Amino acid sequence: MANKWVYMFSEGDMTMRNLLGGKGANLAEMTSILGADVIPQGFTVTTEACTQYYEDGRKINDEIMAQIMDGVKKMEEINGKKFGDAQNPLLVSVRSGARASMPGMMDTILNLGLNDDVVASMIAGNPDPTFERFVYDSYRRFIQMFSDVVMEVGKKYFEQLIDKMKEEKGVQYDVELTAADLKTLAEQFKAEYKNQLGTDFPSDPVEQMKLAVEAVFRSWDNPRANVYRRDNDIPYSWGTAVNVMPMVFGNLNDESGTGVAFTRDPATGENKLMGEFLKNAQGEDVVAGVRTPMPIAQMEQEFPEAYKKFLEVCETLENHYHDMQDMEFTIENKKLYMLQCRNGKRTAPAALKIACDLVDEGHKTEEEAVAMIDPRNLDTLLHPQFDAAALKSATPIGKGLGASPGAACGKVVFTAEDAEEWNARGEKVVLVRLETSPEDITGMKASQGILTVRGGMTSHAAVVARGMGTCCVSGCGDINMDEENKKFTLAGQTFTEGSEISIDGTTGNIYAGLIPTVDAQIAGEFGRVMEWADKFRTLKVRTNADTPADAKKARELGAEGIGLCRTEHMFFEEDRIAAFREMICSDTVEEREAALEKILPYQQSDFKALYEALEGNPVTIRFLDPPLHEFVPTEEADIKKLADAQGKSVEEIKAIIDSLHEFNPMMGHRGCRLAVTYPEIAKMQTKAVIRAAIEVQKAHADWAVKPEIMIPLVCEVKELKYVKKVVVETADAEIAAAGVKLDYEVGTMIEIPRAALTADEIAAEADFFCFGTNDLTQMTYGFSRDDAGKFLDAYYDAKIFENDPFAKLDQTGVGKLMETAIKLGKPVNNKLHVGICGEHGGDPSSVEFCHKIGLDYVSCSPFRVPIARLAAAQAAIANK
Ligand code: PEP
Ligand code: MG
Repeated sequence: MANKWVYMFSEGDMTMRNLLGGKGANLAEMTSILGADVIPQGFTVTTEACTQYYEDGRKINDEIMAQIMDGVKKMEEINGKKFGDAQNPLLVSVRSGARASMPGMMDTILNLGLNDDVVASMIAGNPDPTFERFVYDSYRRFIQMFSDVVMEVGKKYFEQLIDKMKEEKGVQYDVELTAADLKTLAEQFKAEYKNQLGTDFPSDPVEQMKLAVEAVFRSWDNPRANVYRRDNDIPYSWGTAVNVMPMVFGNLNDESGTGVAFTRDPATGENKLMGEFLKNAQGEDVVAGVRTPMPIAQMEQEFPEAYKKFLEVCETLENHYHDMQDMEFTIENKKLYMLQCRNGKRTAPAALKIACDLVDEGHKTEEEAVAMIDPRNLDTLLHPQFDAAALKSATPIGKGLGASPGAACGKVVFTAEDAEEWNARGEKVVLVRLETSPEDITGMKASQGILTVRGGMTSHAAVVARGMGTCCVSGCGDINMDEENKKFTLAGQTFTEGSEISIDGTTGNIYAGLIPTVDAQIAGEFGRVMEWADKFRTLKVRTNADTPADAKKARELGAEGIGLCRTEHMFFEEDRIAAFREMICSDTVEEREAALEKILPYQQSDFKALYEALEGNPVTIRFLDPPLHEFVPTEEADIKKLADAQGKSVEEIKAIIDSLHEFNPMMGHRGCRLAVTYPEIAKMQTKAVIRAAIEVQKAHADWAVKPEIMIPLVCEVKELKYVKKVVVETADAEIAAAGVKLDYEVGTMIEIPRAALTADEIAAEADFFCFGTNDLTQMTYGFSRDDAGKFLDAYYDAKIFENDPFAKLDQTGVGKLMETAIKLGKPVNNKLHVGICGEHGGDPSSVEFCHKIGLDYVSCSPFRVPIARLAAAQAAIANK
């Protein structure tokens, strides 16, 4: 049988999400639970058809097109109207719908099927003057959307024409334009279309349909969708489905309207209906913030019947999906139609509250609640909030809607491009716009916060900011904006580019100047969900911490040990770097030992503080791994200082620095290579590790202090053996001299492909392995970890890569090396424990992989510890 590319809503259900996309599967599911009279009955063109479209060289083949037109025919029968018919026309919407919801990322076309003939006969068949206005309003909207979405003629040309018309007519809102005005606009739009494209606006509805479906498929590959997918781990191969539905008209008259609503508050999670609607409008008006919508509660007065029905629908949907629903609806002549439902996007605090409430209400088990929270979302909770005292003494100068919580302060910028540019040079910015559009997404990402003049809680800015976890205040109508000249006034104050501002995405308050922020804490619902997560996970979570402050923070956030202390990072401070440079720039063992003597006390006290912060939990100390180019002095004054300290001339120091120059420092004289050349460095570090451990163990008899010494950048077992001998001899001598008992371990990083491939040999000498996936990725790909960013964009554009392999673990290649190392190593040393401490240790999908291949722990930066705890729990639940 030929492939089935098209499914009527009555043929699907919610289990068919992969094939029908989220929207299509839910429209089918809603059809069966709410009834076909509430869901305008249409069809879904499958995600497989999208894949086929790309395989066919971005064309819809005849078979798919025939099935689409067959779907249209069935839709005509169900709805008693005819597509393209002048007497009784069926108008449709064409909308995208991928497997995972990607709000605002792809395109929608409404009112498709209109042309001059259809318009004329519709008007002729209905003498009501408001109907004529409605028809022209629909027509101008269709031309505008079709031109923008399908033919990629910029929206702005049409918006300019609308603005001009409003100005000429002396009105503020589009609803105040008359039928005649809209008719003129429709004519002007068609002329603009021809002017831009050189051809007439297509009047054949079948051609309109084909072009529209193609445009939705094409939109899967638009730049903003590609960025969104990369940020949200959505594979390119999934494709999008297309949903074709008969139009119901919220812009028919004042007995009609359209809205979006959530069954619970997506910002706070509170269990109360939240939403907005507009009378006499079509869907995009609410989202685009063309007029400021009314709160959903007001619908009760305006449309009591439909409101009652809507409340029933909300309850049915929540009871069915057991999750907060995000819904789009339209009222046509007082009757309610549901156009979409999906599990709603929510802020991190809302996600936690909703998960806890759903457990308490009996909708979900604790396991299901843990599984429903996106770990990446937690990030926002871990970021600073305004300092309460500072906030109390600050007076807001304005207020908008608290659209996405959190605190943001920074310098005002007016365009997405400026936001990116300023951010790239290290400035914190708040993006202030009349309203945002999907083109602004990368600029929004580069901003601390977003402030808009127009738009409600479901405006583009609000939805996208919530998804990104970026603070957003929307719809502050008091702002008097002059985007062109990059300035605005609020409460009598003028803000120009670079002015300082603070915004509170929870309350919607806006403040002049910068308000200090404080760190967040794990408490309340966050704490409850984390407790559940800890119950389910088997993978331990450690942290990468180089300072006692980081270690303490990580402990607060639930770290169960330090998986990586980069000892070279303990030397960045002014007074320490001098001693470190002396060590690097020594000519003789004596000179080096003298420098090391200066370093030893620093190291010992640092390690002591780390053990204390960890209270007897494991602490892995990685021996020096300094890419030398990061440490040698470059400033004249520093060179002079070093020369004086070493009793050398500036020229001599410069000569040493020259001799240290490496063409490829990341593959240079770093890691254990340093200890092979200068064993006295490993000796000093061992002394510091062991002496500190003895001190802390003595002070805390109830802790089991057991340092884990980690040797970096090993590629050959003999290398490890060589350094280990130095470590063991030094450590044992220290322990014997102190007359105490102290256990310690010596392990290695696996971060060079050769180490992974010879892990059986290495395991015989190592107590543990820890995957350094930053270097392992660098060396497996042969991409410099410092420079790959410069060309990766080209790889995304060419679809060679979907993700940055330094951020998301490459399971196919790098992962295979990890699996190999475990398979080779464990049988040789059955006590071998294995972890990961590259950046991937805090990335949720990488954490799942680590769980699957049997790692004992992941180690990540302190603020990612809760993310890793949740991801580890989800991995355990999903792979039971
Ligand atoms: C690694 O390479 O993954 C690692 C953790 O070490 P570093 O980033 O310090 O090289
Ligand atoms: Mg490394």
